[in-house]
Amino acid sequence: MKKYFSIIFGCQMNLADAERIASVLKDLGYEKTSKMEEADLVVVIACSVRQSAVDRIFGLTPKFQKIKAKTIITGCILDFDKKKLEGKVDYILDIKDLNNWYKVLGGKKFDYANDYLNISPERENPFIASIPISSGCIIFALIVPYLIQEDHLSVEIIMKFLKK
Ligand code: SF4
Repeated sequence: MKKYFSIIFGCQMNLADAERIASVLKDLGYEKTSKMEEADLVVVIACSVRQSAVDRIFGLTPKFQKIKAKTIITGCILDFDKKKLEGKVDYILDIKDLNNWYKVLGGKKFDYANDYLNISPERENPFIASIPISSGCIIFALIVPYLIQEDHLSVEIIMKFLKK
C-alpha cells in the first residue's frame, strides 16, 4: 500500500481540510504514516496568510529535494506564494478541487459531491470533529477575502456532519 505523510501549518479550517484529504487519499489507496522518510506522498496543508506558515514551508523545501516522495502544497495559498513555491514542490493543488486530485495522483474517479466540503472526513480522533460552517475567511482583512471565496454551508449539511 502507498503511504502518505501530512503536515498542517494553519488554522482549524486546515485541520478540517486534512480530514477530507485523508478520506480521498484512503480511497486512492494510501495509508497514513508518521514518518516522512517512508512516505510516497507528502501533503502540506497550510495557510499562507500566516507568515510563520510560509516560513515553515520554505524551511521544509530543502528536505523535499532529498526524499523519494512526491510533494503537494494545498490549503489557502496566496497566488504570490504559489509562484514562489513553483519548482520547490511537485504539485500545488487547489483544495476546492479535491474531487479531482485523482487526475494528478492516479487511481480511479470516486463519485464525490461537487463541493469538496461534502466529502465525508476521515476523523483522526473519534472524539473531536472539526465541522466547517463556511469556506474562506469571515474576518475582513486586506488579502484574505481574495484568497478563497467565502462560502457558507447550508444548515442541512452542517447538521449532517454534526449527527455523524
Ligand atoms: S485563509 Fe483563513 S480559512 Fe484559510 S487557512 Fe488561513 S485563516 Fe484559515
